[in-house]
Amino acid sequence: MSEAFRLDGKRAFVTGANTGIGQAIAVSLADAGAHVIAAGRSSCADTVVKIKALGGNGEACLIDLSDPAKAVGVLESVGDLDILVNNAGIIRRADSVDYSEADWDDVMDVNLKAVFMMCQTFARAAIARDTGGRIVNIASLLSFQGGIRVPAYTASKHGVAGLTKLFANEWSAHGINVNAVAPGYIATNNTTALRDDPKRSAEILSRIPAGRWGDPADIAGAVTFLCAPASAYVTGSVLNVDGGWLAR
Ligand code: NAP
Repeated sequence: MSEAFRLDGKRAFVTGANTGIGQAIAVSLADAGAHVIAAGRSSCADTVVKIKALGGNGEACLIDLSDPAKAVGVLESVGDLDILVNNAGIIRRADSVDYSEADWDDVMDVNLKAVFMMCQTFARAAIARDTGGRIVNIASLLSFQGGIRVPAYTASKHGVAGLTKLFANEWSAHGINVNAVAPGYIATNNTTALRDDPKRSAEILSRIPAGRWGDPADIAGAVTFLCAPASAYVTGSVLNVDGGWLAR
């Protein structure tokens, strides 16, 4: 593979790396040559097994993003990093008129406050070392669309897209590229209920120009590109990886 797409010698930290999109990202970055710290609230041992099976380098680490201040302590404890991928996220559903403050706070803490603080912690260290770096945040179609019955998720993912652009404005001059990937409908635990509902599943599928649900590997490829030398001049962008959903 061309050097422009390789990550040899780089150290990457990926949140929510025990399953789904985060696991695929961790494996893909390692496959491109990075040493990957796979971080999760659940054990990422299985992810490390997958990385090693490919001949890659990685280690597992526990992190709970529902307490953002503690989570940044974990980030600070793992040593110098070149790449941060904020993938972990949660969703809570209820009619907006009934939406609880607890659900709002829980979702905003993991999906937005923790993302802000993780980016801030990563950038402080990279600016102090003057090494540059790459941040990729995982956004959503609901960074652009309103959705329904998920007010905190929509607010948090709009926030992720906004913060990504703001950080790019402040940190690109320090060599830190900040981008986001907005996944479409991807087959993970997060979407099991939708895929198990024949009516909703058919409605969704009929609107996807690519004619299929996305695979976590579809997102991982885009993230790996945004961490590689090939994307050196890409910063402040939110890349839709949605089989064409938003073009419809
Ligand atoms: P998933 O399978 O539910 O994975 C979510 C990940 O976040 C899991 O690793 C989960 O850990 C972790 N997580 C949740 N709360 C955490 C906490 N407090 N501390 C640390 N980690 C925590 O969902 P996914 O589909 O792969 O989602 C990954 C990202 O993509 C999310 O940001 C999601 O919003 C976004 N996304 C997904 C889709 C889709 O169609 N699947 C579409 C758009 C955006 P546990 O396994 O321990 O719960």
